[in-house]
Amino acid sequence: MASSPLIPPFVEVLVDQRVFKPLCYENSGFSLNVGSRVLVPLRNKSVKGTVVGCLNAASFQKVAKIDSVLVEESMTEDLMDLAKWMSAYYLTPFQKVLTTLLPASLKKKIKKEEHYFVTRRAPIADLIEAASKILDPKNPQKRVLEYLLMQEKGVFLSKLLEETGVSKSPIESLVKKKWIDLKKLEVDRSLFTHEDFLLSPPKKLNEEQQQALNKILLSLEANKFHTELLFGVTGSGKTEVYLQAIQKARSLGLGVLYLVPEIALTTQTIDRLLSRFSEQIAVLHHRLSDGERFDAYRGILSGKISIVIGARSAIFAPVQNLGLIIVDEEQDGSFKQTEEMPCYNARDVAIVRAKYLKAVCVLGSATPCFETFYNAQNLKYGISYLTQRAKQNPLPEVKIVDMRHEDDKKKCRALFSDLLLNKIEDRLKKGEQTLLFLNRRGFFKCQICTTCNETLKCDQCDVCLTYHKGENILACHLCGFTQDPKDAFCKKCRSNETMRFQGPGTEQVERALKAVFKEARVLRMDRDTTRHKGSHDALYREFKSQKADILIGTQMIAKGLDFPLVTLVGILNADSMLHIPDFRSAENAFQLLSQVSGRAGRGDFPGEVVLQTRLPEYQVIQHASKEDYQNFFEEEILLRKQFDYPPFKKMCRIVLQAPESALLDRFGTFLTHLFEKNRELDVDILPYTLCGLTKAKGQYRGQILLKAQKFTSLKKMVLLIPKAEKIKILVDVDPLQTFF
Ligand code: ADP
Ligand code: ZN
Ligand code: ZN
Repeated sequence: MASSPLIPPFVEVLVDQRVFKPLCYENSGFSLNVGSRVLVPLRNKSVKGTVVGCLNAASFQKVAKIDSVLVEESMTEDLMDLAKWMSAYYLTPFQKVLTTLLPASLKKKIKKEEHYFVTRRAPIADLIEAASKILDPKNPQKRVLEYLLMQEKGVFLSKLLEETGVSKSPIESLVKKKWIDLKKLEVDRSLFTHEDFLLSPPKKLNEEQQQALNKILLSLEANKFHTELLFGVTGSGKTEVYLQAIQKARSLGLGVLYLVPEIALTTQTIDRLLSRFSEQIAVLHHRLSDGERFDAYRGILSGKISIVIGARSAIFAPVQNLGLIIVDEEQDGSFKQTEEMPCYNARDVAIVRAKYLKAVCVLGSATPCFETFYNAQNLKYGISYLTQRAKQNPLPEVKIVDMRHEDDKKKCRALFSDLLLNKIEDRLKKGEQTLLFLNRRGFFKCQICTTCNETLKCDQCDVCLTYHKGENILACHLCGFTQDPKDAFCKKCRSNETMRFQGPGTEQVERALKAVFKEARVLRMDRDTTRHKGSHDALYREFKSQKADILIGTQMIAKGLDFPLVTLVGILNADSMLHIPDFRSAENAFQLLSQVSGRAGRGDFPGEVVLQTRLPEYQVIQHASKEDYQNFFEEEILLRKQFDYPPFKKMCRIVLQAPESALLDRFGTFLTHLFEKNRELDVDILPYTLCGLTKAKGQYRGQILLKAQKFTSLKKMVLLIPKAEKIKILVDVDPLQTFF
C-alpha cells in the first residue's frame, strides 16, 4: 500500500556504519516515513542512514535531531517487512539486507534533472501584435515570438535557442516584458518512449492459454495470495499469457512487476511489453546510470509508473499497490545472488512478497526448477500446462549422435558429426539459419583418454577429477584426493600417453567451421564478443536480419531468443555439464538442453536438433531429447530423496575465502570440527573441501555444506561461525550450485 507522508516526532534510524542497532532521533518537522534516507549526527559526524521505524516518544531522554533528509521516500511498507524476512531467512544482518534493497542511486544524493521550459504568457493576439510591430525580420525578440506562436504548449529553452539561433538575452527581455514565461521543469531520464511502437492488440488465446489466464485472473480479482506455475513448452505462448494478465491487473488498478533473467532483458523482451501498453513502463537494468535509476524509482514510488520490468534486483522495486508479480524462466540461475550476502533468490523473494501483499505470483518455465515443480505437485502452488506451441508448429525433432563412433571414423576427437555437417550444408543451400551451441558453464577442465573416451575419475567418489590451474593438480571435489596430471593414466587401457585435457572453445569451433564452409557467414556470441554495451543487441539484430548464416554461442543464445529462420540447432558438447559434481548437474543439463532445442523451428518451418554426445545412454540426454520433463523428474527425484538433497532437506553452503591457502585450510578444518562437535541431530555435515573454483580474484576458496531437516537447525549451526581475521565468510541458504 502507498505510505502516506507523515511528520513523526521521533524516528529510528539504521545508519550506514558498523552500528547494527537502530538509533533514535528527534525529527525536526520533516515529512518522513519508513524507508526515508536521512543524514543524522553520530559521534560528531553527520552520517547517512535509513528510517526503519516511526515513534511517538523517544526511547531515551537526550536524543539528537536529524540533520537533513536525503530522500523522503525510498520504499513501500511491504518492503520493510520483506527485508526483515530476508534477514531471518538468508541469515544476513538486517542492515546488509537494507543496503541490498535500496538502489545505489538512493544512497547518494542525486539531483532531479531540471530544464528550462518556455511558454507564452500574454494572449496570442497581443503577441501577434507585438511581433508585427518589430519590423526587422532578423530581430531576435521577433524571431522568438514567432517561434513561440507556432508551438502549441511551449518548448524547452535549449531547443528554442537551437532552432531560432538567438542568445538568452532577448528571451530574458521578453520575460521582463511579461510576454513569455520561463520555468524550471523536471525531466525524466528513466522512461522509454513509446514513439516507435505501434500498439499491438492482444492475441486470441488458445484453450490452454485461456485456462491458465483464467486461473490467474480469478486470484487477481479475489485479491488473494496465490502462486501459479505456468509450465509451458518453449514457444507455447507464456509471454502472451503474462501480457494479458498484466492488462487485467492494470484494469483492476494493480501494479505489476515482471522479472526476467538478466540475459533475457533484451530489446526483444522489452519491445513485446512496450508494444502492448501505452502507459509508462520502467525498465530496470544494470546499465542504467544513477540518474536514470533515480528517476525510475521516483516515478515508481509516486505511482506514476505501475509496470516495472527488470532482472533480479527489480524484485525490490517500490511498486505501489503491487498485485501481480511474474517471474519468467523461474529456474534461471541469475535470479540467485551468490557473490554477496544476502544470497537471495528473487523467485523465492517474489513469492514471499506476493504473500505479504495478497498478490498473485506467476512462475513461468518450460523446465521448472525441481523445488518449484515439487511444490506444485504438493499443491503449494497451482499449476497450468501449455503443452503445444502457440503457432501450431511442432516441437523440433531431436537426433542424438553418438560421438564415439565419429571419433572412431575420424581417428581423432571429432568436433562435428557428419550428420551435423550435412545438415548445416543443407541449410546453407536453402538460405535457412543454424545455431550452434557450445556449453561453457561446465567448462572446467578434466582429463580424458583419447583412445577410449574414458574420463579420469576419482576411485572413491565416481566423479571426475577436475584440473586446478593454480596448483597444477587434478583434484576430487568430494573427498579431496589429488593427483599430478603427469601421473594420470586411463583406467581402461592403462595408458598414460593418451590422456588429454578436453573441451573446445567457441573460437576453435568458429575456426573449424570456417575451414569446412568457406563461404558461410558466421557470427559468434559469447562473453568475449559481447563485452561492450549494446554489442549483444547488435549481434542479435544482425543475425535476426539474416546478415549471417550460422550463430555460434554459449549459454547466451539458449535463452528466450526468437529467431524464426533458425531451422537447425546443433548442440556440440552436451556432456560436460553432466561431469560437474553437483547434485543439480542433471537438472541443469536437462534445462539447458531443452532450452537450446527450443530455439529451433520457431517460425514457419519445422526445426531439427542434432545433439552430439559421448554419453548417449544417460537418461537425462534421452529425456531432454524428447522434452520429457515428467519422466526425468520422477527418476531424478528418487535420487534426491535417497541422498537427502533438496527439496527433501534444507541446504546451506558456507563459502570461505582467504588470501592464503594454508590459512583457509586451517579455518575450514577448524570449522568442520566445530560443527561436528555441536551438531544438531538432523544436520548432515559435508566437511570442508576446496571449491571447484579454487581461486578467484586472488582469494582461495573452500566450502562446507550443511543439510538439515529443519531450518532452525541450520540456523543454529551458522550462528556458531566465529569471526576470523582475513577470512571472508559467505552463507548461502538454498544454494543453486555447490561446486563452483
Ligand atoms: P514462450 O514464452 O512460451 O516461449 P512465446 O510467448 O514467445 O512463447 O510465444 C511464441 C510465439 O507464439 C510468439 O511469436 C507469439 O507471438 C506467438 N503466440 C503466442 N500466443 C499466441 C496465440 N494465442 N495465437 C497466435 N500466436 C501466438
Ligand atoms: Zn573423491
Ligand atoms: Zn584409455
